[in-house]
Amino acid sequence: MNNYQAPADLLTGKTILITGAGAGIGAQAAKTFAAHGATCILLGRTVSKLEAVYDDIVQAGHAEPAIIPLDLKGATPGHYKSMTDTIRDQFGTLDGVLHNASLLGHLGVFKDISAEEWQDVMQVNVNGATYMTQALLPLLEEAPAASVIFTTSSVGRKGRAFWGTYAVSKFATEGMMQVLADEYKNKSVRFNCINPGATRTDMRAKAFPAEDPETLKTPEQIMPLYLYLMGDESVQVNGQSLDCQPK
Ligand code: NDP
Repeated sequence: MNNYQAPADLLTGKTILITGAGAGIGAQAAKTFAAHGATCILLGRTVSKLEAVYDDIVQAGHAEPAIIPLDLKGATPGHYKSMTDTIRDQFGTLDGVLHNASLLGHLGVFKDISAEEWQDVMQVNVNGATYMTQALLPLLEEAPAASVIFTTSSVGRKGRAFWGTYAVSKFATEGMMQVLADEYKNKSVRFNCINPGATRTDMRAKAFPAEDPETLKTPEQIMPLYLYLMGDESVQVNGQSLDCQPK
C-alpha cells in the first residue's frame, strides 16, 4: 500500500486527531489528511509549531483545523477526558486518531537508563497513548468506521542494543495495538501500527547524527500508507503492523 493513490476526497467528512502534529511526520500527516478533505485536530506541546501547521492548512484552502496544546508528559486521564468532551462539543464525532508523538530519549546501555528517563519516555510513548485511547473510545465507537493508527519502529519488533526505553516503549505500542484489535474485531473501530522507517526528521537526525538526511525519504514520501489506513478502503484491515519502507 506504499504506492496507494488516494482519491482527493478520501477523508472528506472525517474528523481526525493527530498527536505530535507540530513537526516531522505528524505535521506532514496533518497537512496530507487535510488536503484529502479531513478536518484535523492538531495536538502537540509547542503551540507555535501547531500554529504554523494550522496556517499552512488554512492557506492551502483546506478545512480549518483545531489546535489542542497538550504536553503528554504531564497529561493525566482527566486531561484526556476533558479533551474528549471538547472534541465531542466542537465536532460531535471522531473518525480517526494518529498516535504519532514520541520521545526518543537517550540512547545508551540498558544498565544506565535512569528512572527519570524511563518514566518520561514511557509516560509520553505508552501511557499517553493508552489513556488517550481509553478516553476517546466511546466517541470513536459512535463513528461508522473509525481508524486508530499507532506509530511503531523496527526496534519495537526486534530489540536492539542501546535503544533502551524507546525500544521497549515501541514493543508496548505493538502490544497495545494487538490487544485492542482483538477486542474490537468485527466492530467499527480498527487498530493498526505504522512503522515509518528511516525518515528525514529531527528525531532521526538526533538518533543518527552522522547520517546524510538527503539520503532519507521525506515525511511527504511516506504518506500513502497513512492515507490508506486512515481512509475507508482499509476498513477490513485490523491488527496489522505495516511498513512504509519494507526491506
Ligand atoms: P519528531 O521528533 O520530528 O516529531 C515528534 C513530534 O512529537 C513533535 O511534534 C513533538 O513536539 C511531539 N512530541 C514529543 N513529545 C511530546 C509530548 N510530550 N507531548 C506532545 N507532543 C510531543 O519525530 P518524527 O516525526 O521522526 O517521529 C514521529 C513518529 O514516528 C514517532 O512516534 C517516532 O517514534 C516514529 N518513528 C520515526 C522514525 C524516523 O525515522 N523519523 C522511524 C521510526 C519511527 P515538539 O515539536 O514540540 O518537539
